[in-house]
Amino acid sequence: MAMSPSRLGVDAPSRGTTPMIDMIDAWLRLAATRIHDAAPTLTALDQAIGDGDHGTNMDRGFAAIVAALDAGLPEADGELALAAARLRTVGRTLISTVGGAAGPLYGTAFLRAGGAFAAAVPGAPSSAVLLDGLDAAVGGIQALGKSTTGEKTMLDALVPAAAAGRERLAASGDTAEVVIAIADAAAAGATSTIPMIATKGRASYLGERSVGHEDPGAASSALLLRALADVVAGR
Ligand code: ADP
Ligand code: MG
Repeated sequence: MAMSPSRLGVDAPSRGTTPMIDMIDAWLRLAATRIHDAAPTLTALDQAIGDGDHGTNMDRGFAAIVAALDAGLPEADGELALAAARLRTVGRTLISTVGGAAGPLYGTAFLRAGGAFAAAVPGAPSSAVLLDGLDAAVGGIQALGKSTTGEKTMLDALVPAAAAGRERLAASGDTAEVVIAIADAAAAGATSTIPMIATKGRASYLGERSVGHEDPGAASSALLLRALADVVAGR
């Protein structure tokens, strides 16, 4: 019987490409294009409450990810192991190229997500594996950043995104619906940072003067998750 593409978590015996790997690669490439296009906006947000490098930092990191994809990423046996290897390579690339606070934070997020994929049960639905990866990513950021929601950071996009994804997963296992719920909540979460006072990262130096500006890391997180939803939806 042909394998349904809606159950991408099925561990494929083959090496090389699989539907899940194709989706991850397509996501990373679309994210790189969108980060590049949004770099001036992300930088402007960071100019308002930081040092104005977030757009260029992220653009450099995602360009390096595309270069790594073009060069050919490590082989592994099984779809989940391949996905894990890819996500870990992305994490290491971000740590070594992005710099600032966001490089180690996003890098750790992808390393932890890779760990979750490596630990996933072969045959689990892709939406469940994806949410385990997102939860692991959030946990990594919280641990490294010693941060939580309400502090005007990327976590204000990512934590509600993961929660909305879990809620949607409980109602329907459909991956496209889950990732749309994730992306919508991340966008709302990024907007919710505008009235917040920053208490973590560079923006915290501004105290109350950080109010009235969207957090650049929350904006880039929302962008990354929208790209994922659009790739899953075939947009
Ligand atoms: P830097 O602040 O070092 O210049 P970037 O401008 O690349 O680094 O990234 C800034 C973003 O990093 C912020 O907008 C915020 O979302 C995120 N950030 C900073 N510190 C933390 C932290 N402790 N926890 C979570 N996110 C953080
Ligand atoms: Mg900055």
